[in-house]
Amino acid sequence: MDYCHTYADLDTRLYHKQPPVPLDNPRAGHFNPYVAAKLGWDKDEDLMARWVEILGGHYVPAQWTPLAMVYAGHQFGHWAGQLGDGRGLLMAQVRDTDGHCQDLHLKGSGLTPYSRMGDGRAVLRSTIREYLCGHALTQLGVPSSSALGFVVSDTPVRRERMEAGAALMRVADCHIRLGHIEWIASFAPDLLASFTDYMLDTYYPECRDTPVPVAAFLQQVVERTARLIADWQLTGFAHGVMNTDNLSITGSTLDFGPFGFMERFNPSWINNHSDHTGRYSYQNQPAIGYWNLQQCLTHFLRLPNIDRATIDACLSLYEPVFMQHYQIGMCQKLGLPHNQEALNIAFEFLTLVESERADYTNSFRGLLALIDSTKYAYEQTLLTTFINELTPEGLSTWHDWRERYIALMSKNISAAEARMYHNNPVYILRNAMAQRAITAAEQGQFEEVARLFTLLTTPYDVQNIATTLDTTPPAPDAWQPPISCSS
Ligand code: AMP
Ligand code: MG
Repeated sequence: MDYCHTYADLDTRLYHKQPPVPLDNPRAGHFNPYVAAKLGWDKDEDLMARWVEILGGHYVPAQWTPLAMVYAGHQFGHWAGQLGDGRGLLMAQVRDTDGHCQDLHLKGSGLTPYSRMGDGRAVLRSTIREYLCGHALTQLGVPSSSALGFVVSDTPVRRERMEAGAALMRVADCHIRLGHIEWIASFAPDLLASFTDYMLDTYYPECRDTPVPVAAFLQQVVERTARLIADWQLTGFAHGVMNTDNLSITGSTLDFGPFGFMERFNPSWINNHSDHTGRYSYQNQPAIGYWNLQQCLTHFLRLPNIDRATIDACLSLYEPVFMQHYQIGMCQKLGLPHNQEALNIAFEFLTLVESERADYTNSFRGLLALIDSTKYAYEQTLLTTFINELTPEGLSTWHDWRERYIALMSKNISAAEARMYHNNPVYILRNAMAQRAITAAEQGQFEEVARLFTLLTTPYDVQNIATTLDTTPPAPDAWQPPISCSS
């Protein structure tokens, strides 16, 4: 692999260099051949032969420079002070086959100076959820970390019950969080200028060619975050813990905990069991993204050339960029070009899906059957289910809407078909799917993880390895159960 270690050369206050603490008897869970190919990992015989040892913390390749990063953050709206990699290590930085730098981060690798009250470990349950979700989002086209693979072990880990310790090799374009800036501002403000230079040169080099590079960089951070959260809303993804230490400066999904994908559409849905006020509910995500950026960007006032007006100008881009990206995406889900008429009809449909508590993913995908019910036989079954579950009022709204929608969509039916196909997945990672894979894995069976991995690799194509359980939401009167924060 082509290494590009740069973080390990930064000021030593920013990290603690240490090897992982080995897991007991690590065994293969699953290996991601796509990530391996992207990294060039698959061209290295030693890495291929010893990947389980590496993920289990028993072998660190000679060129690697494992370190725990320090950062800080606001958790649930409150300043949490110093945090850091309490159970993960940045193991190496690698230039991928496209020339982009990628971080290899081993999660579940044991105690570090930043572990606070934790044990430094990750359990199999949350490891599988992160592994499958990173893959699912990546394949849906949503910027996200994904993982090279994961291992399970005999190391016992206590959560609500005793569970198996596991480790995941997370691969992300960047592990610098908004919370890194907050840590520097509070604990090492003399580093802000050089750390900003590092972020600019490493992740936003194009900003160097602008009159005020730091302002251009901050603008990009705001825009990428806005687009990411628009993608989450369009996909129905709820992150669950949008603390400032869980958002990357590159606008890529990081740190999966009690996340979920929307099933029956309910904008106020809260997926995190510990989120008692709904701060991180699905519908609050756009506002929280802005709040997080505000906390972070204010610290750049310390730099020359950056004043309040500059920060405000950057932040003011958030809402229009979010709205533009979300609205275009919503029109595409209906196969329509972006205009006011399309938006109106899209939001009418969303309102119907919400009031009827229909499944978000299946409702959109089922619309393909309106184009050709023979070619889209599977989608016809979704549409039939959608219609059969409608209330009498819902049914009459649907009939009226359907006529107007077909008239609009028929203006360019082939463009509509392509847009609808590529913007409405058949498969998302429903909580119950992940749970079935976890239950089997806890018995030593990883075939279900492998099957879901394959299913989520091409989420827009109907596949014969799917079962009805993969596409069935909870019953109409059942709440989508929240997920425990423990991991
Ligand atoms: P999270 O809410 O998962 O983003 O974690 C918040 C902070 O707690 C991060 O600094 C983590 O590294 C740390 N942390 C979470 N779980 C553990 C654990 N089991 N052991 C040590 N640190 C942990
Ligand atoms: Mg975190």
